[in-house]
Amino acid sequence: SLWRVTVTPLEQSDGRGAVCVFEDLTEQEQIGQVRRDFVANVSHELRTPLTALIGFIETLRGPARDDAAARERFLDIMEREATRMTRLVRDLLSLSRVEAQERQRPTEQVEVQASIQGVLAILRQTIDEAQVRVVLEGCKTPVTVPADSDQLGQVWQNLIENAVKYGGAGKQVTVRVTTNDHDPMLRGPSVRVDVVDQGEGLDPVHIPRLTERFYRVDSHRSRRQGGTGLGLAIVKHIVNRHRGRLKIESAPGQGSTFTVILPR
Ligand code: ADP
Repeated sequence: SLWRVTVTPLEQSDGRGAVCVFEDLTEQEQIGQVRRDFVANVSHELRTPLTALIGFIETLRGPARDDAAARERFLDIMEREATRMTRLVRDLLSLSRVEAQERQRPTEQVEVQASIQGVLAILRQTIDEAQVRVVLEGCKTPVTVPADSDQLGQVWQNLIENAVKYGGAGKQVTVRVTTNDHDPMLRGPSVRVDVVDQGEGLDPVHIPRLTERFYRVDSHRSRRQGGTGLGLAIVKHIVNRHRGRLKIESAPGQGSTFTVILPR
């Protein structure tokens, strides 16, 4: 821990008395450190694709100038890198917006299953390309929660996209919606959404860190699949804003389950 100690001699005490103030700066120091790490990470994440882009521009101007096949290949890579930067900037903006609104109560009434179905429609192509089957197991009756509908959609989108991405081709992703009339943790009625995949699963040591910004278990894989490392950090902030809970269960070889529980 880090302490600041200020010693002020007492007046009129012949130099024999003093006031000592001990301040515990540990928490402030940690917040400062988190902020510095974040800026360093963002800079690194942006510099990597930029360096690649500049390298390819130079190659296109020089050695690859008259090689049509190489030119096409390099342009593909450049497009991918530029897309990745766009996605990173988009996720950074979403994260800062969500953080800024974290103390505002959401005001809309959103039907959970309709919100999930909307996201599945948006992800249709991604799901088909990944050759994954997504099954929605809903409840019989509609379930409504106080929410920000865009943000709630973002939660399902990030979790389902991950399940599809890390679940693997030929596998199934199950999205299950259940309700509880008295959730002991939330002290009231709740709705629970489980996003279950049949992927490789995760070593439990990683679980507590998954919602940290830029934390990735396998950064090559995440990058190759277009990940920014911010998806779960965004989910965590949105769920906090909705006064809900996020649970992650996973074991190597047994797939993963990401659960969101929201008050209704
Ligand atoms: P990314 O853009 O890298 O997917 P996320 O914040 O969404 O970033 O996830 C952080 C990390 O958590 C991922 O890089 C991956 O290692 C791990 N992860 C997330 N979802 C799953 C999942 N369904 N199965 C296995 N690992 C996952």
